[in-house]
Amino acid sequence: MGIKIKCDVLVIGAGVSGIAAAVAAARSGMRTALAEKDSFPGGIGYSGLLQHICGLYLNSRAVPEETLNDGIAREVANRLHQLSPRNKVKKIGQVYVLPYARDDLSSIFNSMCRAEDKLSVMLDTTAVSVKKKGDKIIGVRLDRSGTAYKITPGVVIDCSGDGNAAFMAGADYQLSPLSERQLPGFIIHLKGLNTRDETLPVKVPYYLSKAVEAKLFPSYIRFTAFSYAEAPDEGFLKINPGHEHSRSSRVVLKRAEKMLRYLAEKLPSFRGAYIAGTSLRVMDREGRRVCGEYTLTEDDILKGGKFDDGIVKNSWPIELWDTKKGTVYKYLKPGEYYEVPFRCLKVKGISNLLCAGRCISVTHEALGSTRVMGTCMSLGEQAGLAAAYYIKNGRYPEGIQDI
Ligand SMILES: Cc1cc2nc3c(=O)[nH]c(=O)nc-3n(C[C@H](O)[C@H](O)[C@H](O)COP(=O)(O)OP(=O)(O)OC[C@H]3O[C@@H](n4cnc5c(N)ncnc54)[C@H](O)[C@@H]3O)c2cc1C
Repeated sequence: MGIKIKCDVLVIGAGVSGIAAAVAAARSGMRTALAEKDSFPGGIGYSGLLQHICGLYLNSRAVPEETLNDGIAREVANRLHQLSPRNKVKKIGQVYVLPYARDDLSSIFNSMCRAEDKLSVMLDTTAVSVKKKGDKIIGVRLDRSGTAYKITPGVVIDCSGDGNAAFMAGADYQLSPLSERQLPGFIIHLKGLNTRDETLPVKVPYYLSKAVEAKLFPSYIRFTAFSYAEAPDEGFLKINPGHEHSRSSRVVLKRAEKMLRYLAEKLPSFRGAYIAGTSLRVMDREGRRVCGEYTLTEDDILKGGKFDDGIVKNSWPIELWDTKKGTVYKYLKPGEYYEVPFRCLKVKGISNLLCAGRCISVTHEALGSTRVMGTCMSLGEQAGLAAAYYIKNGRYPEGIQDI
């Protein structure tokens, strides 16, 4: 039993990639369903308490005037700037990012979805199983508070971050062993910081390393990063719990409270600081990487690889949150970018399944560059456009000019 629904395109997961995929498919005239297990759109881009959208711009010496990719990523960047004009492209180290307010992002996503009458957004709805016949997905079962929905989709786009739909469909995937997998993250929003001290981003890891040496905290605490927010008395602590430690938000929060007491003893700025909010949960930087028809590598990225079916440009460095070394960056040459080929989105062996966002077909190292939000949004959009092309033509586009 269950409610039966037919659609052209089913998108699973409404993070930044899923929203872009669903909106692009609906704008192309497809009857589109977007299923999201949480009660809000935006995925990590909303629940993660992040401050910057990365992967939107070319990293050259000149301040970029436009996003590297056009389409939905540019539209979202422009709308974010309209809503909060103070949020302008900013250089951090060697890269350009766009500061954003998550409520702005959420309102833009909601308005983009509402504008599409062919798009049905199903929140609190989890994809629980996938039925296949031959090399095709013929049904996906969704669950919303105990009510079953049986979807018959033309094309499925897996934007679940972790390749959950591909996994349920029996697709091949890569998953790094825990010892090599990137560290997950948990963000703490602080208020009540006393005196603004621009050296805190250096002092915080220094004092925390000392505390780790003194065995006051587990070793991963030395990778904790501090950054100031726009308001002078606010900041963020980015904690990166080791894989061998608890993922429970409650446990990480308790540790953060202890850490804050320790920092208040060492640094006057922290004396009045308190925790004003946290990310919803401990968030994975790396999960399943679904095997596609091509797997993008570190070499492709660093040499600025271009492809006949290149669909998304990216200039973001390989940024790995290593369990032993902390953050390690490998940069492209200034002014250089690489392309992600469409084959990284085409799931091997399943003709009507695409993936987009964090779970595309890349190596562990390449994921360090492709996983950022600007790139994930463009990947989602291209998957939505390709799915629409498939429904109209019975095949995927050959190259970028086809889309
Ligand atoms: C700690 C941390 C800090 C980061 N900092 C930055 C940063 O500063 N800037 C930046 O650009 N990027 C940053 N990133 C990376 C970036 O946020 C993510 O990689 C990106 O948002 C992934 O987008 P996505 O759409 O692929 O996946 P997600 O945002 O993970 O969205 C996937 C969605 O799918 C849903 N879902 C999963 N399974 C199912 C199912 N079975 N049924 C229905 N729904 C399902 C989930 O609930 C989720 O909403 C950070 C990541 C982490 C972990």
